[in-house]
Amino acid sequence: MKKKRFVRHYVDTKRVKVGPCNICKRHDELTWDHVPPKGGIDLSAVEMEKVFELFVGQEETKFSESQNGVKYRTICKSCNETIGHRYDPALNEFSLTVGRYLKSGLSFPRVVHHRARPAAMIRAILGHLVAAKIEIDDCLFDRDVREFVFDESKPVPKDLFIFYWLYPYEQSITMRDFAMPAVRGDFSKNIGFCHVLKYFPVGYLVIDKPGYEGLDELTQHRLLSVDEEVEIPIRLDRVEHSHWPEIVDDGNIVFGGKSTKDAILARPKKRV
Ligand SMILES: [Zn+2]
Repeated sequence: MKKKRFVRHYVDTKRVKVGPCNICKRHDELTWDHVPPKGGIDLSAVEMEKVFELFVGQEETKFSESQNGVKYRTICKSCNETIGHRYDPALNEFSLTVGRYLKSGLSFPRVVHHRARPAAMIRAILGHLVAAKIEIDDCLFDRDVREFVFDESKPVPKDLFIFYWLYPYEQSITMRDFAMPAVRGDFSKNIGFCHVLKYFPVGYLVIDKPGYEGLDELTQHRLLSVDEEVEIPIRLDRVEHSHWPEIVDDGNIVFGGKSTKDAILARPKKRV
């Protein structure tokens, strides 16, 4: 019997064909940056259905045949290839590993550890976030990331933290430049400047404050070299809402500018 595979459809977000690259700022022909990156998770339709069955009750996660992503025509070929060849494989391997645990059914342990290359993952996440903006921007975050993202002799800035958690949803969400309380429910002045990049099966939060709701931190390995491996945990028993943490509720408020309003939510097409 022919095995049905997922087809990923990308929502296009583009500006003119030739212009300044969001990362290196050189004026060049612009290429598409895919979020999620190509080469990540590729479960068969049946496998995907099983995964979503595990999380029934958490939220409505209806199975559908297509899974959406977003692509941004905002970076040059050279920057695109650097992310794609040098850093994305680490991010993709992590997605594949987590996906494999989910595929194995209900027998998985609550927390698993897996070898990963966090320094490469950090650079991939940040590169995609800078690409995920229709206009070239000189805000502090973009400037900081441009400074070090491809220069591996430079450290990840000390005030930049990346946290990750299981994201068993079909939709992809990318949201840039928003502020929210660094501790949910605490509306004092402790506000974090944030970005999220979420796609099956892991979500990532970038914030300028240490610690967020007890999540595991990728940037605790910021001093490793890009090729170094370390065991990192993934909690398979913690599932948040698909719009967490940027969801506005009793414990959270969100402030954002134009790029927050430009946030891209790529929902899967539903089967009729
Ligand atoms: Zn470039």
